[in-house]
Amino acid sequence: MKYLLVFVVVIVGLTLLKKSHQHREIPGARKPPKPAPPEHMYACSHCGVHAPQSRCVWKGDNPYCCSEHARLG
Ligand SMILES: [Zn+2]
Repeated sequence: MKYLLVFVVVIVGLTLLKKSHQHREIPGARKPPKPAPPEHMYACSHCGVHAPQSRCVWKGDNPYCCSEHARLG
């Protein structure tokens, strides 16, 4: 009978421990923002340096890494 009580206490303890690990997330806490999807990289038509699409300077169909290189062509 003594061992049954110890067994029950251990089972209850393990169950409580497991539950406390499952609820680590704070309710109402903001989740970190998802990372932005990868951008297409373009090689500069002047120097060949790769730049992300959002930072490219376009002159016609040619991408450039900066306005200076776009001016130089
Ligand atoms: Zn360039």
